[in-house]
Amino acid sequence: MTADTTRLDPSRDPTLDPARRSWVESADDAETSFPIQNLPLGVFRRAGSAETFRIGTAIGREILDLAGAARSGMLGAAGAEVTEALQAPALNALAALGPAAWSRLRAATGDLLSTGNARLRDDRTARSSLVVPQDAAEFDVPMRIGDYTDFYCSIHHATNVGSMFRPDNPLMPNWKHLPVGYHGRASSIVISGRPIVRPRGQVCPVDGEPPIDAPSRLLDYELEVGAFVGPGNPLGSRLTAAEAEAHIFGLCLVNDWSARDVQKWEYQPLGPFNAKNFATTVSPWIVTMEALRPFRCPLTARAADDPEPLPYLRHADGAASSAGVDITLEVLIASRAMRAQGMAPMLVSRGSFRDMWWSFSQMLAHHTSTGCNLRPGDLLGSGTVSGADAGSRGCLLERTWRGTEPLTLPDGSARTFLADGDEVIMRGFCRRDGWVTIGFGACRGEIIGPS
Ligand code: MN
Repeated sequence: MTADTTRLDPSRDPTLDPARRSWVESADDAETSFPIQNLPLGVFRRAGSAETFRIGTAIGREILDLAGAARSGMLGAAGAEVTEALQAPALNALAALGPAAWSRLRAATGDLLSTGNARLRDDRTARSSLVVPQDAAEFDVPMRIGDYTDFYCSIHHATNVGSMFRPDNPLMPNWKHLPVGYHGRASSIVISGRPIVRPRGQVCPVDGEPPIDAPSRLLDYELEVGAFVGPGNPLGSRLTAAEAEAHIFGLCLVNDWSARDVQKWEYQPLGPFNAKNFATTVSPWIVTMEALRPFRCPLTARAADDPEPLPYLRHADGAASSAGVDITLEVLIASRAMRAQGMAPMLVSRGSFRDMWWSFSQMLAHHTSTGCNLRPGDLLGSGTVSGADAGSRGCLLERTWRGTEPLTLPDGSARTFLADGDEVIMRGFCRRDGWVTIGFGACRGEIIGPS
């Protein structure tokens, strides 16, 4: 396990050294999100091929095939169990190995890609098979996700949505005592870029009238961050928030597509069901917790007079100052007409993940507090990430205030909720003085009409 001193003092970690450079030239291009200090993990194959998906890391505008590099003995320092785990078509086996193994892989990968290391740099034959342009690749969901749970951890989002439906009582009495969540649907999680078919469902357009079965008219996105579970816990055991950090493999971007009209009719008394189960999009790259170390921060939304969490939800001594992650998150929309006219996507919101009220450690701890087991590769969604101001609201329900404040797109059309042909693009990056900026890449999806 990585020593706490390293977590608190990332300057001791050579993989984060701002002076480190890669022989992959595009890694120096700030536009790519993927300098040598990032090294996110995903699964890819050559676009249009029938190859089995394999594990790789993004470096600049390229992908290094980690499965092949490990088989060629280039990542020997990571150890035999890591080499074996890298041969799978998904990252679950690596996630199960835990932080010490993840650290060895990161160190070995960083060494191999550093300017001073000639092993792969000067081997043209190996490079032509192991280094693949991202433009020439396609991606799959990077884990076999057994279970997916979605939380509701932004107090700004919870208060905004609560005040629309319960003006006198926006925040339920449990909200500041436990991270509210629901069990989502793993089977419909798709990779960025896959089109999203507008769902049909049971909706009740006029209060007091009978419901109808119709295409959703109030289709929305939710900007979220996802955490993939590492080793996890056996059934019947619990993880405290202090223990949980070592069970977080890494983070990605998540779009929790939501049919608000379906949700409105179905959600009482048991919460979301069909409003959420038709699709969830994830970004292809998992940014590891080690890469995120320089960007850890306190959870800024908590106030001094907020209730102290129960002991199982408390962070380790000294860890509260790094319970959050300062990830700048953006949502952009490009309509079909905008794309046809060559217009750039419109920025709809920009917020930060530091504005959450509960941390992922607390979400893991609460999830396991009954003895529920989390397994390697399970996905936890943070809930919609919204900040205090209108420009940082992470879904259209809030951004257009239930459709009462439409957005105007550059093509002249108005939006309250998503139209067919709209592409939603989410982006995330971490920037801090003294450190190299890293990014998550994009999480995209275009709405297509019901079949
Ligand atoms: Mn959600």
